[in-house]
Amino acid sequence: MTNHQIKESTYFCGMKTYDVIIIGAGPIGMACGIEASKAGLSYTIIDKGCLVNSIYHYPLGMTFFSTSDRLEIGNVPFISHGAKPNRFEALEYYRRVADTWSLDLKLYEQVKQVSPSEDGYAVITSKSEYAAESIILATGFYDIPYQLEVEGEDLPKVKHYYDEPHPYYGQKLVVVGAANSAVDVALETYRKGADVTMVIRESEIRDTVKYWVKPDIKNRIKEGTIKSYFNSSIIRITEHHVDIQTPDGQLTLENDFVLAMTGYKPDFTFLKSMGIDIRDDKMRTPIYDDETNETNVPNVYIAGVLCGGLKTNKWFIENSRVHAGVIINQIKKKKGIIA
Ligand SMILES: Cc1cc2nc3c(=O)[nH]c(=O)nc-3n(C[C@H](O)[C@H](O)[C@H](O)COP(=O)(O)OP(=O)(O)OC[C@H]3O[C@@H](n4cnc5c(N)ncnc54)[C@H](O)[C@@H]3O)c2cc1C
Repeated sequence: MTNHQIKESTYFCGMKTYDVIIIGAGPIGMACGIEASKAGLSYTIIDKGCLVNSIYHYPLGMTFFSTSDRLEIGNVPFISHGAKPNRFEALEYYRRVADTWSLDLKLYEQVKQVSPSEDGYAVITSKSEYAAESIILATGFYDIPYQLEVEGEDLPKVKHYYDEPHPYYGQKLVVVGAANSAVDVALETYRKGADVTMVIRESEIRDTVKYWVKPDIKNRIKEGTIKSYFNSSIIRITEHHVDIQTPDGQLTLENDFVLAMTGYKPDFTFLKSMGIDIRDDKMRTPIYDDETNETNVPNVYIAGVLCGGLKTNKWFIENSRVHAGVIINQIKKKKGIIA
C-alpha cells in the first residue's frame, strides 16, 4: 500500500481519520510530528497553549543545561550565542523547526477526552472533534504544580511559576524548595535586590542542583545573604506574614511574596481517563512497552518527559527525542508499511 492509498482510505463519514494524533506541541510532540511526516502518515499536533507552551512559561532569563545540539530535532541545526541556549533562542529555534517541516499544528485547543471509537479513537477538544487510528501523548509535566496545601495559598502573592526578578526588588521574598528551580530563583532575585529567605523541607540543598550553581547557593546561605530554614515548612500564609515550622519551633516572618518552587506533576487524571495503567509505586510511572512506547491501551503511545511519571528528571529533551522515531516505526509496522 502506498502512502497515497493509506491517506485516501482514511476518510469516514466526512471526518478525516488521522493515522496519528499527537497531543502536546512541546519539543517531543513536534519530533513525533516530524517523524510522522517523514513516514508519510497523516497527523496533527494539538496543544492547549502556544507552540512549546512549557518552554514559553519557563523563567524569562533561563539558560538550558543542555548544549544546543542536544536540543535539536528534525535535523534542523540549533545555533546559539553561547554553548547553552537560553529560552528566547529555544523559542526561536522551535518556531523555525515548525516552519521548516510545515508542521500541522492546532494551538490553543485543549484535548478534553480521548475515547475508543470504531476506527480507533475519538479526540474531543475545546474546539472540535477528531478521529485517529493512533494517539501519541506528549503532554509533559509542567501544567500541574505541587500545592503547599496550607491556608493562604490562594492569596495573589503566592506564585507557583516564576518569570523574572524585577517585581521582587526590595521585597521580602520566601522561596520554597531545594531543587534547581528554587535555587535559581533564590539567587536571581537576591542579585536583583530582593530580601530572600529559603524555606526547605529537606536538611540540605538537593544533590541534583547543577554542579556549577551549588557552590554559589551554599556560599550565599553560609554568609547569610540568603537566609535559610532547613527541615522546615510553611504552615500558614497571610497578607503580610508567613508562619513556618522549624526544628526550633514556630516562627512568623514578615513577607511580601511566596515563590513556591516545589515542582510540577503530570496530569494522571487525563492518563487514567484513557485507561492507561500507572505503576503503583512512588514515581507513579505510566506503564508502557520500553521497545515501542505503547501503553496497555492499544495504539496509544507516550513520549517525552511524561514517560517518567513523577520522576520528572528522568526524561528530558536530550534523551527523549528518540521516542519519536521509536513510536512512528511501531505505527509503520502495525500498518504494514515496514516489516
Ligand atoms: C527550567 C527548566 C529547564 C530545563 N532545561 C532542560 C535542558 O537544558 N535540557 C533538556 O533536555 N531538558 C530541559 N528541561 C526539561 C525539558 O524542558 C522538558 O523535558 C521538555 O519540555 C519536555 O518536552 P515534552 O515535549 O516531553 O513536554 P513539554 O515541553 O512539557 O510539552 C508538553 C505540551 O503538552 C501540552 N499539553 C498538556 N496537556 C494538554 C492537553 N490536555 N491538551 C493539549 N495539550 C496539552 C502543553 O501545553 C505542552 O505544550 C528543563 C525543564 C525546566 C522546567
